[in-house]
Amino acid sequence: MPVTKQDVVDCLAKVPAPDGRPLPQSGALSEIIANDGKVFFSIGVDAAAVKSWEPVRQRAEAALKALPGVQSVMIALTAERTAGSAAARPAAAGGHGHAHGAPGAGPKPQPGVPGVGAIIAVASGKGGVGKSTTAVNLALGLRDLGLRVGVLDADIYGPSMPKLLGIHGKPETIDGKRLKPMEGYGLKVMSIGFLVEEETPMIWRGPMVMSALTQMLREVEWGTLDVIVVDMPPGTGDAQLTMAQQVPLRGAVIVSTPQDLALIDARRGVAMFKRVNVPILGVIENMSHFLCPHCGTRSDIFGHGGARKEADRLGVPFLGEIPLHMDIREKSDAGLPVVATEPDGPHAKIYRDIAARIRDQLAGGAGSRAAPKIVIEA
Ligand code: ADP
Repeated sequence: MPVTKQDVVDCLAKVPAPDGRPLPQSGALSEIIANDGKVFFSIGVDAAAVKSWEPVRQRAEAALKALPGVQSVMIALTAERTAGSAAARPAAAGGHGHAHGAPGAGPKPQPGVPGVGAIIAVASGKGGVGKSTTAVNLALGLRDLGLRVGVLDADIYGPSMPKLLGIHGKPETIDGKRLKPMEGYGLKVMSIGFLVEEETPMIWRGPMVMSALTQMLREVEWGTLDVIVVDMPPGTGDAQLTMAQQVPLRGAVIVSTPQDLALIDARRGVAMFKRVNVPILGVIENMSHFLCPHCGTRSDIFGHGGARKEADRLGVPFLGEIPLHMDIREKSDAGLPVVATEPDGPHAKIYRDIAARIRDQLAGGAGSRAAPKIVIEA
């Protein structure tokens, strides 16, 4: 018999919240979803109380796992913060990467994905800076360096990988449980865009997002890969912070355009990853300068070099500049990423050079230059 929501509630009634009340009466639980033996929900708590809640979360997980009919349990501890509360604000840029007691810092490191060498995030402080385009072309650049590469589209609200890689269809399941990733241009790819209809409006609740992400990462037969590139949702809010905690990231790449405003957002991105002790592999300046497709003349439309300066200021590596070019946009939007379809062109070389810098950093101990010290709590 598959487990029901009531079974879950009954089971959780035996688990006390930090104040001694049974968990279902604590007021902290989100809607509980019990589907096909899979249980997921979140516990929303005050950021300052995260530490006292983590053992409760673990106890709840253990109790539920022991219930007959339960196959998997996913309980996310989300620090519910009101805007302006201490935890909602990213740590000051360049602040101490000190996890001990830091609100929002992952209480326990996530286990790696078997067979996968490293998982890196491509993130941006806001949308529209070319994060997904960069993620795809970097993944292809890493592939060109001889690495086995996967792409995980974590942009649950606006998945773009199916389009950018021109992949259609739905993933097959293996033994009815695990999904086979889709493939395109030699990359293994998973995106929520393969699983839901494009036209279907998606109303996601926090725990569903986390569950979808965890499943796309852990219930997919990735096989043996050197690296998975995660295209993060844009922004630096709570959802992104929680995601950064849920995925065992070796490092993060921040994409920014050179404008001041984008750079402020990029700074928030750097701060967000630092706060969850994910090393910053570096900053990329996208749409760095305009190369006229007709005459090749270069114009610094948004100013230029801002991201390099910002990276220096923050003490993180600068990985390179990608020009604003029609070819990149047209190819990208047509599902023909430039690194794959014009491998001998100038843009492919730029992406490959950046990919090589990322690979070198991963090989040399990710983010060694700028990595905050990871403090594992006893
Ligand atoms: P994000 O993931 O940050 O929202 P996208 O990767 O979807 O951004 O890019 C937004 C738009 O900008 C897309 O139409 C894309 O083709 C275009 N774009 C991205 N990078 C470049 C570039 N270097 N030159 C020209 N167009 C670009």
